[in-house]
Amino acid sequence: MKHLHYCTAFTLTLLLVATSCKQALPPQTEFKMGTVCSINLFEKGTPQLYSEIFQRLTDLESILSANRNDTNIAEINAKAGIAPFKAAPETLYVLQTALLYSEKTQGAFDPTIGPLVKAWNIGTEYAAVPSPEVIKKVRSLIDYRKIVIDPVKGTVFLPLPGMKLDLGAIAKGYAADEIVTILTKHKIKKAIIDLGGNIFAYGEKTPNKNWIIGIRNPENPDENSILTIPVTNKTIVTSGVYERFFEQDGIRYHHILDPATGFPVNNDLLSVTIITSISINADALSTSAFLLGTDRGMALINSLPDTEAIFINKKHEIRVTPGLKNNISLKNTDYTVIQ
Ligand code: ADP
Ligand code: MG
Repeated sequence: MKHLHYCTAFTLTLLLVATSCKQALPPQTEFKMGTVCSINLFEKGTPQLYSEIFQRLTDLESILSANRNDTNIAEINAKAGIAPFKAAPETLYVLQTALLYSEKTQGAFDPTIGPLVKAWNIGTEYAAVPSPEVIKKVRSLIDYRKIVIDPVKGTVFLPLPGMKLDLGAIAKGYAADEIVTILTKHKIKKAIIDLGGNIFAYGEKTPNKNWIIGIRNPENPDENSILTIPVTNKTIVTSGVYERFFEQDGIRYHHILDPATGFPVNNDLLSVTIITSISINADALSTSAFLLGTDRGMALINSLPDTEAIFINKKHEIRVTPGLKNNISLKNTDYTVIQ
């Protein structure tokens, strides 16, 4: 009888394990917001939770994308020089956050970069170096200070015909924060969110154990990581020359554009990685610091609380903020960490 009792308990445990295994899906990947988005919810990965998360990404894309004609951004752009557009709270929040970084970078980071992005077509089959006339014309349309936001009415107005918003440098960071909000609401303890390399290592891997995040070699992104860093509940976002680019006449043109020249920014850097707690800030900052170059970029990062960074330059030197000095593990000896 006792034996039978054990047996029943054992079968019951097996049954419980089996049902919980059946519920938890493997990491899920979908193409959203113009990139490959992978979410790992580990043992809490129910179909319902994955679908809530991907639905949020679908919704955000349908509000914020600059590459469709039915989004808030498309409507604001279509009404440039004509009338204000009543935008969703998400649009206002992301745009207002972008503008903080325009101020911090004296306009190097500019959400009115849209006409220049369209002129280059980087990431599409039509990518090509625009003519000097086109560059000159679109540069005159880029100026974040001209955006008119009415916070009471919730409207956005671009005063010059042809002006265009593009929130591509910041939208994925916001999306990662929105996923974190969903996870918190459901009391999920840990997850890995990867929105096209824009990472949120949410919660603790296991009690008192960090996640180990690898940073790509900007010259060989498909190789093993160039270095790794341990993190808990942090977002890790990189902007680099390798994310999106094309080649013409042997020259590589990447997708982070300098409003001052109309060309891809060409400074000492290959990539900048930001590690902090809020992903919209990390995304805006990785692009901003990349635009500013090592010295000005590092000064900006060091002026902010709770923000660490890794700058990798064309001389294969790696510079990190003081908080990371004893934390990174270099894996590739072609690169040197400069103290
Ligand atoms: P990724 O999208 O590869 O993660 P970033 O976050 O650095 O890279 O964003 C690059 C995108 O930001 C470009 O594709 C473009 O949409 C936009 N962008 C390019 N130059 C600027 C700029 N000077 N200011 C603001 N946004 C920019
Ligand atoms: Mg960015």
